[in-house]
Amino acid sequence: MARYTGPVCRLCRREKMKLFLKGARCESMKCAIERRPYPPGDHGRTQLRRKDSEYLVQLREKQKARRIYGLLEKQFRNLYEEANRQKGVTGENLLRMLELRLDNVAFRAGWGASRAQARQFVRHGHVKVNDRRVTVPSYALRKGDVVTLGEKAKAMIVVRHNLETSDRTVPAWLEAADGGASVSLRDLPMREHIDVPVREQLIVELYSK
Ligand code: SF4
Repeated sequence: MARYTGPVCRLCRREKMKLFLKGARCESMKCAIERRPYPPGDHGRTQLRRKDSEYLVQLREKQKARRIYGLLEKQFRNLYEEANRQKGVTGENLLRMLELRLDNVAFRAGWGASRAQARQFVRHGHVKVNDRRVTVPSYALRKGDVVTLGEKAKAMIVVRHNLETSDRTVPAWLEAADGGASVSLRDLPMREHIDVPVREQLIVELYSK
């Protein structure tokens, strides 16, 4: 499935906040939000003074969520449609489905410094689900699944570095084992366990128009 390959920091600047898409760089003073905290483009600075319409606020919220999880519009829209068909609150369903993607769980486990890096590990066959290699980043995990790093990946310097230096804690719905090289889904993520700065209700309002 296709993915965005353009300038990444531009996405944060467009949303006027850090989306933490690049790992360690995001914590440093090299972060574009620290240096240029206004939207990109010739009129970026003037946009800071503009009063956003209701539609624009909803659109920005959707774009923010999409960019945090690294999805293109069609994938995101399909996920929303599925969330809407499920029982329960659509916005929460959507966030839960995003969290249950294999690339996101590899990121939450601390293997990747960013979701993009975690996604690459999945694509390169370094991640197993219930002892079977899965190379599809969007693979939807279920309660009880066990996700592990392959033997080669466990020894990779970048993975070990990420595990040792990550200050992210594994969320409560995941249980880490084997020195962090394995996580099992002990539960489905609830809204209070999902720390992304997204107001999902605005996304639902946008797509319900
Ligand atoms: Fe966003 Fe990270 Fe780039 Fe900063 S360094 S603008 S947080 S991707």
